[in-house]
Amino acid sequence: MKQFEVPILYRSPLISAIKKKRKELDKMKKDFTPTLLDFGPLQIYLARHFGFCYGVENAIEIAFRTIDENPEKRIFLLSEMIHNPQVNDDLVSRGVQFLMDTKGNTVIPFDTLTADDIVIIPAFGTTLDIENSLNELGIHTEKYNTTCPFVEKVWNRAEAIGNKNYTIIVHGKPYHEETRATFSHSAANTPTVVVNDMEQAIELGKYINEEKPAEDFYSEFKGQYSKGFDVEKNLERVGVVNQTTMLASDTQAISDYIRQVIMNKYNLTEDTIAERFADTRDTLCYATNENQTSVYTMLETDADIAIVVGGYNSSNTSHLVELCEEKLPTYFISSEEKIINKNEIRHYDFHNKEVKITYDFLPDKEPVKILITSGASCPDAMVEAVINKLVNLIGVSTTTEEIIEQFS
Ligand code: SF4
Repeated sequence: MKQFEVPILYRSPLISAIKKKRKELDKMKKDFTPTLLDFGPLQIYLARHFGFCYGVENAIEIAFRTIDENPEKRIFLLSEMIHNPQVNDDLVSRGVQFLMDTKGNTVIPFDTLTADDIVIIPAFGTTLDIENSLNELGIHTEKYNTTCPFVEKVWNRAEAIGNKNYTIIVHGKPYHEETRATFSHSAANTPTVVVNDMEQAIELGKYINEEKPAEDFYSEFKGQYSKGFDVEKNLERVGVVNQTTMLASDTQAISDYIRQVIMNKYNLTEDTIAERFADTRDTLCYATNENQTSVYTMLETDADIAIVVGGYNSSNTSHLVELCEEKLPTYFISSEEKIINKNEIRHYDFHNKEVKITYDFLPDKEPVKILITSGASCPDAMVEAVINKLVNLIGVSTTTEEIIEQFS
């Protein structure tokens, strides 16, 4: 995979040494077991895959290069570059301004832009409407478009299915930048509806089965269906794609559910289901798959707690938290500063969208076994900082340098 130039402050000597070693030993990426960092009284099990993905590194490289190459110009980002506060703050400190918030609300009106300005499209991609608005202002986005190729792959898949006259069901968070972009690209080609979760998929199933009055659909799915969507006609032939960072098991369950509803309604068999249900495998990206599989394998370890590092509005990170929570006490933190001391941690409860304080989060035993992973938008340096904080708090004699030595 292509190597990117990412600012050194995001890299970590410890994590780089570990990733390099693991890559050498497992070129085909078949081994998902975690890496043990044995500090004696502290044992850290680091997920096999975590941290910056292809799309994030690509976006960061383009953004920082654009800043370096255009000192005289105003540089804007459509919205957050990626869902990581440190990276976004660094861009702002270099003079970049955000045009919208993560929900698409205007922060800086487009009519204040001029053709001389640069607008960077983030890794999530953007809607056709926004792209057209920028082009009408004379702002050409091609050079500064950091849309991840794995997101574009979903758009291409939706287009291919749409061209065969299937309606697209997008499994994604309706207000997430990527889902809004995917929805826009798909809706330009074929009727499209977004489902947030299984609960909504079940409700959509009721409209397919005509168990609910058709007119209710338009209020129930307000803002989630394409213009001119006809619920009585457009749910007869469907295909499912998803936001690239959803939980693999959720997307599979939703796709299987809709498939079964269609099969029952039209008395189809395994041989004839393709008449009305496009055979799509999930459109999760490689990083989501690798990071989630690594967490499943890491969870086989008999550990005490898990720590997941990443931005609180990061979709892929929250899914890693969700997986860990099923097995053991899990703390979702955005930086090492959230570990206040040996007894106190401030962590994010993404279910209730609030920061919580937990006391005595570290068990009083030796060794303490901690699972650690991070999201695809989290710098490795942040994970190393968390490890160093734990090392200092627990007071071990093995140094991080000695651990790096073991992987060199
Ligand atoms: S998480 Fe996947 S789709 Fe999103 S930017 Fe990274 S590689 Fe691309």
